Amino acid sequence: MFQNTKESKTKLSELGEFGLIDHLTQFFKIKQTSTVTSIGDDAAVLKHDKHTVVTTDLLVEGVHFDLAYMPLKHLGYKAVMVNLSDVYAMNAKAEQITVSIACSNRFTVEALEELYSGIATAAELYDVDVVGGDTTSAIKGLTISVTAIGQAEKEDITYRSGAKPNDLLVVSGDLGGAFLGLKVLQRENEVFKVNPDAQPDLEKYNYIVERQLKPEARKDIVELLAALEVKPTSMIDISDGLSSELMHLCKHSKVGANLFEDKLPLDPMCISTCEEFKLDSTTVVLNGGEDYELLFTVDQNDFKKIKANPHLTIIGHMAEQTEGIHLISRMNTKIPIKARGWNGMNEEDED
Ligand code: ADP
Ligand code: MG
Repeated sequence: MFQNTKESKTKLSELGEFGLIDHLTQFFKIKQTSTVTSIGDDAAVLKHDKHTVVTTDLLVEGVHFDLAYMPLKHLGYKAVMVNLSDVYAMNAKAEQITVSIACSNRFTVEALEELYSGIATAAELYDVDVVGGDTTSAIKGLTISVTAIGQAEKEDITYRSGAKPNDLLVVSGDLGGAFLGLKVLQRENEVFKVNPDAQPDLEKYNYIVERQLKPEARKDIVELLAALEVKPTSMIDISDGLSSELMHLCKHSKVGANLFEDKLPLDPMCISTCEEFKLDSTTVVLNGGEDYELLFTVDQNDFKKIKANPHLTIIGHMAEQTEGIHLISRMNTKIPIKARGWNGMNEEDED
């Protein structure tokens, strides 16, 4: 995309703000019919026939990412994914994004090109138009904010509040990988600090490192549910961890839940990495965040439509609110689920 520039280290001041915006956004193409006008005017103009959904996430260096092990290209990709994931969690189709960045003069034009190539790849693969943003300098570090805009028919939108007692609790994909990938990257980074010549051996951790560095928002699950003619009664994406997202669904829907430990979806690499790090895999699945899978509830009548689907796992069911929220362990004991950790790792309750 940006060829012949990788060798040079161009200061941001050489291009100036407007030159920089033009340079970074020059390759963005408009594909969505709902985009009337895009980058270049004071505001983008959109025309949505259905209901519009809007969501924003802010990523701050040192808080949400560490550039020691997060390549800028991946960061750009991930910043888009975390937002698209929120649109899909509403059972909507994402069509536009805006991208705002604040960065210090420690960053070069080439560094921002890397960031934007990740953003461009994400926009291309997920079929969203980049229709605007803002660019500003910062005293320190890098901050990136993405806003995603999508649309859906009013009756298709899924809220956190629609779950009923006895609804099945379903999750896409597998859980815990992104957290374990971060553990591996942090360990390699520590080794590197002590011995800069050490070659990181990340090959055998490929899947989980990718889950951390290059998460995929589950657009395919929204499409799958539509094809199966299943409308979830409630839905949320897993950014913070299964236990806290389940608590959000329960709180907003005014229901309880029973989650079965033996049903939690774990990749074999997650199991082996948990053993290596001496971590309890159930704790990792419940509390490890950033998997960006979808957690949703469906009516019991939809059981036939979703059972045995390789992308979906039924992990429990909703209950009356008075029953509370529990993990049913492999030993068949009922353990109350707390916002962050049922095992006392962190006793703090969320609001
Ligand atoms: P304004 O002064 O009205 O905020 P800007 O000069 O900041 O305008 O932006 C000019 C155009 O470039 C606008 O369409 C804006 O949405 C777009 N833009 C600015 N920064 C970015 C960015 N980082 N990524 C994508 N588009 C951007
Ligand atoms: Mg501006």
